[in-house]
Amino acid sequence: MKTVIIGGVAGGASTATRLRRMDEKAEIIILERGDFISFANCGLPYHIGGVIQEREKLLVISPEKLKNTFNIEARVKHEALSIDTKKKTVNVRDLSNGREYTESYDKLVLSPGATPIIPPIPGVDLPGVFTLRSIPDMDRINDFVTEKQATRAVVIGGGFIGLEIAENLQDRGVQVTIIEMLDQVMAPIDYEMAAMVHQHLDFKHVRLALSDGLKAIDADSPLNVTLQSGRVVGTDMVILSVGVRPETSLAKDAGLELGLRGTIVVNDHLQTSDKDIYAIGDAVQIKNIISGKEVNLPLAGPASKQARIVADNIAGRDMAFKGVQGTSIVKVFDLTVASTGLNSKQLADLGLPFKDVIIHASNHAGYYPGASPMAFKLLFSPEGKIYGAQLVGVEGVDKRVDVIATAIRAGMTVYDLEELELAYAPPYGSARDAVNIIGFLAGNVLRGDLETIDWNMVDKMDREKNVFLDVRDPEELAIGMIDGALNIPLGELRQRLNEIPHSKRVVVYCQVGQRGYFATRILKQNGFDVVNLNGGFKTYSHVT
Ligand code: FAD
Repeated sequence: MKTVIIGGVAGGASTATRLRRMDEKAEIIILERGDFISFANCGLPYHIGGVIQEREKLLVISPEKLKNTFNIEARVKHEALSIDTKKKTVNVRDLSNGREYTESYDKLVLSPGATPIIPPIPGVDLPGVFTLRSIPDMDRINDFVTEKQATRAVVIGGGFIGLEIAENLQDRGVQVTIIEMLDQVMAPIDYEMAAMVHQHLDFKHVRLALSDGLKAIDADSPLNVTLQSGRVVGTDMVILSVGVRPETSLAKDAGLELGLRGTIVVNDHLQTSDKDIYAIGDAVQIKNIISGKEVNLPLAGPASKQARIVADNIAGRDMAFKGVQGTSIVKVFDLTVASTGLNSKQLADLGLPFKDVIIHASNHAGYYPGASPMAFKLLFSPEGKIYGAQLVGVEGVDKRVDVIATAIRAGMTVYDLEELELAYAPPYGSARDAVNIIGFLAGNVLRGDLETIDWNMVDKMDREKNVFLDVRDPEELAIGMIDGALNIPLGELRQRLNEIPHSKRVVVYCQVGQRGYFATRILKQNGFDVVNLNGGFKTYSHVT
């Protein structure tokens, strides 16, 4: 059996090595257009920032080692030009000498990845304008910063690659301005969670222009970036990181079925519309297990898992890929930002009714030194099905997002989160971990013990019908209050109930939501119509 794999990085190289483990006799050929196979794309920004100092560390395995260790033939600088599905051949060009030849296959695997989107605007081809996808891209950026002694950069796009590049350039002494068309960075998370990232970027002296897009780049001292608002930003260099486009021209020309955004359609065995051709990674359309909708999720985790399944299928096993849920994580200076599942906008677009709760919890017991806060948002159905979670914090975010990701995969509900028995000792967690707490809170909401409102309702509420009650202690009020709120500290609430009008709905808040919950319970059991502000004043103040 001869398997040809097009694309030799995340998906392609993993397919090849798994296939070798499954079938010692298989003939396996990788065709890779670029100079390297199996490099660590995800590490590229960190070499620019000097965190990963040795460039070689990004080169996971060389073609020679792949041959010696796995008996896999990897041909770099070999581009697949076309596929003849009837003859089962690939037309290939050796880019080092221009020679073209035909390679036959029994099974073909497409893992061609994606290419950075270049916006169709004037100036994107000027020297000093870059994208980051490959080792040569990284080398070009590195050399430019060094040779030109760049001190200013404009990063177009506030997604995870844009943020990683921004951090790494800023750490290298380059003043970064991020331009983002949306009103927030990190589209997978909701606005109030992204607002914390905006504040942190500001704290780290990264300039951020939201709700503004790129209009043109001009060669002027050395570059001028004109934004759609008319604002002009002078810079030494521009990094375009506005997303990726699936690399599917080969598949299209071969007549394979294409789907969403030109992605390759695959079945659950990851076979394309031609049963002898498999496709994986950034180039494919895949089912989201929560929404049931087809999506394109250009991340390394799904690509490498799909690779294993394809290899197993080629080797004769019957393996299905169940789908993705969209779990991601990114470091933004001192913060970690992570999410899994669907966010509010996606749920609203799908027309799925949902509820959400926000907590500000510690990563471990507060009395143990070094505890740090994390904002944690959980989205769930009225029946308790977990739809998604988002976290922003300094420590412990990775652990919680992975617990929720696993819970979603296992089909667990918010009630299961209440009971999860998670590892605890003071340096690592709390007897009631943040995951348990958010489960308790969601359970409270679903059981009717607590009603919440979100930050974006505050300014819309009719003051004739609603009264805001701040239950923080007086010394906490200096950081701000909701206009017109009544202040009765939680400890005095039972004695001062007569100060609260029964004729109005009481909107309670404290700093993070917990005392607000306690106050809500007191008021509810005293006959008040009461709601608690989700995430407390902390979440509200991040966005206002
Ligand atoms: P790739 O790994 O891109 O491999 C595709 C290869 O196919 C390319 O090398 C290309 O040259 C080759 N190719 C294309 N067409 C042809 C052809 N016709 N002939 C021959 N070869 C061809 N994901 C995460 O999950 N976490 C992260 O932290 C993360 N960080 C990232 C940081 C950066 C800077 C970048 C660029 C990506 C990051 N990703 C991250 C995304 C991740 O790298 C991709 O999802 C993953 O590499 C996709 O694997 P793939 O095999 O589909 O494509």
